[in-house]
Amino acid sequence: MGGTFDPIHHGHLVAASEVAVLFGLDEVVFVPTGQPWQKSHREVSPAEDRYLMTVIATASNPRFSVSRVDVDRGGQTYTIDTLDDLQRQRPDDELFFITGADALSQILSWRDSDRCFQLAHFIGVTRPGFDLAASHLPEGSVSLVEVPALAISSSDCRERVGRGMPVWYLVPDGVVQYIEKRGLYRSRGGARTAAREGVSGDGPAPPSGDRPTYDRPPATVAQPGDQPPDPSSPHLQEVPR
Ligand code: ATP
Ligand code: MG
Repeated sequence: MGGTFDPIHHGHLVAASEVAVLFGLDEVVFVPTGQPWQKSHREVSPAEDRYLMTVIATASNPRFSVSRVDVDRGGQTYTIDTLDDLQRQRPDDELFFITGADALSQILSWRDSDRCFQLAHFIGVTRPGFDLAASHLPEGSVSLVEVPALAISSSDCRERVGRGMPVWYLVPDGVVQYIEKRGLYRSRGGARTAAREGVSGDGPAPPSGDRPTYDRPPATVAQPGDQPPDPSSPHLQEVPR
């Protein structure tokens, strides 16, 4: 399962778990994307942070693992490169690629999409707010699967942290604590600054660098049961990957 995982949330984990059972998969490999070196529509948290959050979130499931192929390759991630690398590492394995309904609808615009379909069988999973359809895709290349509906997105998690709302129960507990420790998603600070640094290479050192640090004292976070600071804030719209 490929994704930005900024941050990984329970929607990703439920989808992966459901597909693993339904398709009898031996392993689900989560593959966080590399760090885009071009600025796109938003700044992405450092790859090491996204990788570590994915490790934390998946550590307790023996069938789940995390691959660094895209993180180590760096730059913009293309699924064809991910699949090439995974196949090289696991020549005897049959590859499946799990993707949500939103990403599936754009799949034909992916680089080398024809070869992607040769390298892996694609599994499209339902996602609240998006139609799951494969009529535009080559016959037999994609299986559609209904997974328990969790209307969670990373965009929404980031936006909630930015305005001081809790993300408990939307992401695993360890990920809540990691976000807090690294100061991710706080408006105008943390990872956003770090990502900008990675692009431009100038400016002062950000509070959160490219590498995690482990010596920062915990700051105040929203706890379960806290009152929301600004109940009138608008909801964030889903942003495609
Ligand atoms: P963002 O809001 O930043 O785009 P996201 O929540 O969409 O984040 P991604 O890392 O972009 O998360 O998604 C990785 C993969 O997981 C994509 O294929 C996406 O469609 C799928 N996915 C994400 N959230 C869900 C969900 N709640 N239910 C099912 N699939 C999901
Ligand atoms: Mg997305």
